[in-house]
Amino acid sequence: MLKLFNTLGREVQEFRPIGKIVGIYTCGPTVYNFAHIGNLRSYLFEDVLKRTLLYNNFKVKHVMNITDVGHLTSDADEGEDKMLKGAKREGKTVWEIAEFYTKSFMSDIEKLNIIKADVVCKATDHIKEMIELVKKLEKNGYTYNAGGNVYFDVSKFKDYGKMARLNLEELKSGARVDVDINKRNPQDFVLWFTKSKFADQEMKWDSPFGTGYPGWHIECSAMSMKYLGEQFDIHCGGIDHVPVHHTNEIAQSEAATGKKWVNYWVHNEFLNIVGAKMAKSGENFITLQVLIDKGYDPLDYRYLCIGAHYRTQLQFTYESLDNAKNSLKKMREKIIEIKESKEKADPKKIEEYKEQFKGLINEDLDTTKALAFLWAVLRSDELNNKEKYELALDFDKVLGLNLDKVVGNIEKLPAEIEKLVAERDSARKAKDWKKSDELRNYLVTSGYAVLDTPEGTKLRKNI
Ligand code: AMP
Ligand code: ZN
Repeated sequence: MLKLFNTLGREVQEFRPIGKIVGIYTCGPTVYNFAHIGNLRSYLFEDVLKRTLLYNNFKVKHVMNITDVGHLTSDADEGEDKMLKGAKREGKTVWEIAEFYTKSFMSDIEKLNIIKADVVCKATDHIKEMIELVKKLEKNGYTYNAGGNVYFDVSKFKDYGKMARLNLEELKSGARVDVDINKRNPQDFVLWFTKSKFADQEMKWDSPFGTGYPGWHIECSAMSMKYLGEQFDIHCGGIDHVPVHHTNEIAQSEAATGKKWVNYWVHNEFLNIVGAKMAKSGENFITLQVLIDKGYDPLDYRYLCIGAHYRTQLQFTYESLDNAKNSLKKMREKIIEIKESKEKADPKKIEEYKEQFKGLINEDLDTTKALAFLWAVLRSDELNNKEKYELALDFDKVLGLNLDKVVGNIEKLPAEIEKLVAERDSARKAKDWKKSDELRNYLVTSGYAVLDTPEGTKLRKNI
């Protein structure tokens, strides 16, 4: 039985899906810059959640948005337009910025072995759905117009701030003086802007409320309901989204349908660097490419993240990343050692160990214990190598460390490398030592140890 910590209610609860297919929506990136490794921690945790659902034999439909319009530098409608900021910085159009950083993001998550969402939807492709939702809210009496913009009136929604446990009276008295003067309550938020603060705003659409663009929050409600229905199972994101973004998403979705929207809210804690949270708008942030340039494998970072529970803050240091790298290296060496075993696995034993692993990961995604259990299996005196290997690959369905791709011999080489190995064997047969040496050197610089055996060239990936 899978248990998850539900921010709604702040307790670990048994997971019971609404229907046959688990609907899961994860807030995606705002594509005005590279994702930093803090953002990537969110997507890694969501990947483990999805893999755990699949491990439990649930069918899953996963939807993730790409925010390419409307997100200001503050989540509460203040500050600059993030996309415009990126465009100005790089002398490009906002559309070019969105395309470039979306591609970069998709490539990052692939490198981290994150399973791609079933639906990846861009906000700018769903303006029609957002307008329809704002119209519904208008009809249901939750909106007001002020200063050219359409606002959501939080005082009309009975349970506003319930998940975040906000106290509206306290927030009102503590509100900053420079909040938008059009707002009746400081927590009200924009559903549709027509009075852009930015004269050169390029992204604008016609709507019954005037030509303009959507507020940030409305996209997640509109797109999740389009693809997952008016009620679905799980919604995720970083913990910072609880008080504003997710609180507003709940208010506008439930005000539109009159129904409970999402059953489980699952949030990850932050990755911090020397005590400070890593924000995309801050200048000092580390990308996955920075780690790759320093010689790390993206999966070293994955290993680091799954070593900690998703609900604890994780302090990032290069020392901890080095430790993760070493552990993963050792794990891969162990896999190479055991993968060729010709022993026989005892199916009963395998089942018992799988059940134990499931018990650990189902305890609110305890990856720390699950990873320790994998190590215990690899080191066990009670299991033969065949059993260890089978179990490691099974646990890796959740952990995602690509243990099935660890290359210890000629198996599963990339096609182009395989071609070179065949060429080298032909060259050796023809006693063309020059060509054979050239090919050897090329293979070595591509990261392989090259062994000459009676059966021909064998490679081992350098790890
Ligand atoms: P953004 O692209 O800014 O909308 O953020 C994408 C995701 O990353 C959101 O779910 C955020 O909550 C999450 N996030 C932002 N900063 C961090 C951090 N330092 N550690 C973990 N998650 C973060
Ligand atoms: Zn969202």
